[in-house]
Amino acid sequence: MHSQQVTGAGRAPLTHDVIIAGCGPTGAMLAAELRLHDVRVLVLDKRTEPASFVRVVGLHMRSLELMAMRGLLDRVLPHGRQRPAGGFFAAIPKPPPQGLDSAYAYLLGIPQPVIERLLEEHAAERGAQVRRGRAVAGFEQDDEGVTVELAGGQRLRSRYLVGCDGARSTVRKLLGVAFPGEPSRTETLMGEMEVGVPREEIAAKVAQVGQTHRPFWLRPFGETVYSVVVPAAGAGDRAEPPTLEDFRQQLRAIAGTDFGVHSPRWMSRFGDATRLAERYRVGRVLLAGDAAHIHPPIGGQGLNLGVQDAFNLGWKLAAQIRGWAPATLLDTYQAERHPVAADVLDNTRAQMELLSPEPGPRAVRRLLTELMDFDEVNRHLTEKITAIGVRYDFGEGPGLLGRRLPDVEVKNGRLYALLHHGRGLLLDRTGRLTAGGWADRVDHLADASAGVDVPCVLLRPDGHVAWIGDDQQDLEDHLSRWFGEPAT
Ligand SMILES: Cc1cc2nc3c(=O)[nH]c(=O)nc-3n(C[C@H](O)[C@H](O)[C@H](O)COP(=O)(O)OP(=O)(O)OC[C@H]3O[C@@H](n4cnc5c(N)ncnc54)[C@H](O)[C@@H]3O)c2cc1C
Repeated sequence: MHSQQVTGAGRAPLTHDVIIAGCGPTGAMLAAELRLHDVRVLVLDKRTEPASFVRVVGLHMRSLELMAMRGLLDRVLPHGRQRPAGGFFAAIPKPPPQGLDSAYAYLLGIPQPVIERLLEEHAAERGAQVRRGRAVAGFEQDDEGVTVELAGGQRLRSRYLVGCDGARSTVRKLLGVAFPGEPSRTETLMGEMEVGVPREEIAAKVAQVGQTHRPFWLRPFGETVYSVVVPAAGAGDRAEPPTLEDFRQQLRAIAGTDFGVHSPRWMSRFGDATRLAERYRVGRVLLAGDAAHIHPPIGGQGLNLGVQDAFNLGWKLAAQIRGWAPATLLDTYQAERHPVAADVLDNTRAQMELLSPEPGPRAVRRLLTELMDFDEVNRHLTEKITAIGVRYDFGEGPGLLGRRLPDVEVKNGRLYALLHHGRGLLLDRTGRLTAGGWADRVDHLADASAGVDVPCVLLRPDGHVAWIGDDQQDLEDHLSRWFGEPAT
């Protein structure tokens, strides 16, 4: 599409508020969040069918909390398997730290196509339109909207466009946003399959081979199924999913035996490219999920990070469209989420180093393995991987400011049940405060027995603590900061 601006008279009507390129987990979650605020959303995906490649991903604590906040968790849980919330950092086998501060202190292993389907259904039920077999091929933005061109030439128009179109994002490339970082240097095969030799034999061989080859592990999941990770070293066609024969060949080459692997549940390959978009927003076009950041899947954070981007962006973009957003609200999306992604990229870099078979990294790994016996170290790393440790910078204030509030008990139930509609919440133990002119955007719960040890908390729709205190005037300053002008 050429880059001249379309003049007002020649513009097609704005048929949608937001067009989302890509109906992966990030795009579907964003669509659902926008629909909570009656935003007219169209999701376009170039694939005619949802992804069918089966790989099991892990939903970490913060993502499970988000699902609970929108009433989705009961739908998701039956499709997954709960596992302990520890042992993810660099695959160092440790139990979870003591007393994790979440009502959802586990990992949910779930096939990626299943979570994608559930999120897409959730978005569609809330009224998002999803059109498949439609690839975004170009766009042009002007002062009131974005004209989006599909492969095939059709043009659509919306007020905003969000690129949730994955690692090779067309939207990011067309925006000209730089994607600095490191290219992929190594390829790894990863899958779940059954084995044909006894457990003890596998454990002994893995311990021996793990001294010289990494990433390499066979870890039991249940009775007979093992998670298998082995360097690809050029095995198979990079453009295709690996075959069982690729796994057998690599296991024999590295361990001298293929452990009799058979009956694979799923098989995948991944590289270690690590990149972060320089900007998440250019005018009316934004990026989220893998379109904005890529990193190796060690620790299982990518999908979680994308879904959490969507959760951060949804209510802000909706506020912008509904007309009540304070002037800088939309820019807080990049200000808050870019550092979180940078931190995830860094922790995956560190984890990949810890998988190296070289003597130096092996020594560091031994040392870290010892350090993780200190509960505080284990907790720090677990909170990082699971994203419950994220704290946005809202300025000076108590430790809780900028963090997410756990699903504490409130009268008649739990806090997250009050957040299903994506509104703000004033959780008020004093019973003296009021959301006043913001009552159309912010709910108020007066509850002296609420499970927080501060007088009053203002929660944003994404569950992060925007204010703590007991003074009405101070509260109103913060209501203005996050929720705009009061209704008259
Ligand atoms: C082996 C492996 C294991 C992993 N394990 C985990 C894990 O345990 N936990 C975890 O959190 N993450 C994991 N990940 C990462 C996770 O799969 C990704 O981070 C996640 O899929 C990103 O979601 P997304 O919606 O941002 O992008 P995608 O899932 O890539 O979705 C992008 C969508 O955009 C569509 N699209 C592309 N171009 C266009 C276009 N021009 N127009 C319209 N549509 C377009 C695509 O068809 C696709 O549907 C793993 C990845 C790998 C490779």
